[in-house]
Amino acid sequence: MNNVIGLRCINCGKELTAKPGLYTCPACGPKDGILDVVYDYAKIKRSVPQERVVYSKDRNSAGDRLSSCGASNAV
Ligand SMILES: [Zn+2]
Repeated sequence: MNNVIGLRCINCGKELTAKPGLYTCPACGPKDGILDVVYDYAKIKRSVPQERVVYSKDRNSAGDRLSSCGASNAV
């Protein structure tokens, strides 16, 4: 169920076990030791059908522009 294998420091490449509260590499410090989440891609690929992976379309920004010119302020 958990698709996260662990965390990898983008600075030194060290792999760490994901745990609550661990956001940065202890060796590199909070400034440089940004941790990348390592997912179990093989497992995700098997459990999620390709059609389900849909990126959200940028529909809201276009609709925003349309509605803003016609909407009067209802106070
Ligand atoms: Zn590091």
